Amino acid sequence: MRTHNVIEAIKNLSFATLFDAVADAMVLIENTGHIVLINPAAQRLFGCNEDELTGLAVEMLITPRYRKQYRYYQTLFFDKPAMLPMGTGNEIMACDRSGQEMLLDMSFSPIEVQQQLYVLITFTVSRQRVKAEDTLRVREECLRLAKQAAGFGIFDYDFKRGVVYWDKQMREFWGGYPGEVISYEGFVAMIHPADRAGRQAALDYAMNPVSHGEYKAEYRVIDPLEKTERWIAVAGRVYFEAGSANRLVSVARDVTEQKIHPEKSRMPRNEGENIHEQQSAARTAAAIAHELNQPLTAISAYSEVVLQTLRNDSFDVKRLQNALQGCVEQTQRAGRGLHELIAFLQKSELAAESLDLNDVIGDALDVVVSDGSGKFRTRLKLEKDLPAVQCNRTQVHKVLVNLFRNAAEAMQTADSPILTVITQVQVLNDKKMALVIVQDNGSGLDQAMAKRIFEPFFTTKQTGIGMGLAISRALIEANGGELWVESDSGSGAQFHFTVPFAP
Ligand code: ADP
Repeated sequence: MRTHNVIEAIKNLSFATLFDAVADAMVLIENTGHIVLINPAAQRLFGCNEDELTGLAVEMLITPRYRKQYRYYQTLFFDKPAMLPMGTGNEIMACDRSGQEMLLDMSFSPIEVQQQLYVLITFTVSRQRVKAEDTLRVREECLRLAKQAAGFGIFDYDFKRGVVYWDKQMREFWGGYPGEVISYEGFVAMIHPADRAGRQAALDYAMNPVSHGEYKAEYRVIDPLEKTERWIAVAGRVYFEAGSANRLVSVARDVTEQKIHPEKSRMPRNEGENIHEQQSAARTAAAIAHELNQPLTAISAYSEVVLQTLRNDSFDVKRLQNALQGCVEQTQRAGRGLHELIAFLQKSELAAESLDLNDVIGDALDVVVSDGSGKFRTRLKLEKDLPAVQCNRTQVHKVLVNLFRNAAEAMQTADSPILTVITQVQVLNDKKMALVIVQDNGSGLDQAMAKRIFEPFFTTKQTGIGMGLAISRALIEANGGELWVESDSGSGAQFHFTVPFAP
């Protein structure tokens, strides 16, 4: 009885009591960004008392040079108020009363009081920096192994110092430059003038804190002595500190042969590819284990319920039905997950054929419309004379079904859901590809999510598996194309993918 009373009393604790008691620094702000309440932990963190902080614009706690960035987070939040937990990239540099700077991670939680929106912001001193350094060390090791296996060059551009550190292979690409460090200007000077703007655009995109930091470019490097040209393909990642880009770590490959003789790029496998395949087999094995683990645990729990219920003399039929229904659903889910993974594994048996992409899109739409994934109107803007593409029909069909299903699910609460599918010809670096755009007007993706959706097992759905987009990207890449999400697509989400045209 007493326990019950205690629990009731705890449930009735006021917001103010909890707000004051928590160990994390918290402030409550109104929609103008001004502080309404500040708890003792936040007063300690910022070294100011309640009177000094109440009524102050919260951005005043942020180091002046990062206030613009903070305003960006705040506007983003008020545009679409939804819980933004810690660790989703909302790091910011703040300072206490003595001017001491500290890197803080923030979470935002919307609270509605009398139809007015307030936001509870929690600050904790960021552990991200330490984690980022660890991650970087692991990545550097991976790069080293990749480099050995496939003849990659590595470079590391330090934005603050304006220098590029590069390894021997990379220096050879640049005509045998002697030093381990080169000024950024020196590095860029050897890039073909016609390719500099394209390279810079790719870098600008990767350096924008709202992008996912991914950097991909292809350009020519001119050997100063020989006056020869060499095509280089680079792929890397920009690292951010307190929201600004501070480092680009990249691998580079000499792709001159493929550029000059494209037919040779679809060549027998080399050692690098074998290593890649082994790694992807290992990843898939891990994925299968993960895939089965959850449904098996659930099936085992449901079976326990069935056994327990049967042991009772007067057993509850409804309870039995529910538990068995759970078993059936989990078994089907496991089956579906495995099926997807096996399709992923089979990508090595890729049989490419010449296809009418618009036709595959029509078929995939029929599947999604008829399987009841959701109701929506379809707007097709298909290029009438799109040349045939060269890819595996089943795989591209699967990717389209995945994208359409995700869109249908995201539009479930939209007033008038519309799925727009566009096909067109894209020309990049003189290379023509077919481009497909799948646009919905559903719940959309915030920046933090957009960064993670292609990671295996990332899902925000209760019954999601989180493998759909990871598999789709792998399938499109296996067909010689790319799949990405546009981060600034307005409302809803916009996925793009390319596939090559038939020769
Ligand atoms: P799953 O559908 O099993 O969650 P996916 O890999 O297909 O796995 O998708 C991962 C996550 O990406 C989804 O849980 C969802 O949060 C997000 N997502 C994918 N497509 C969309 C979309 N069209 N609109 C909004 N969010 C999306």
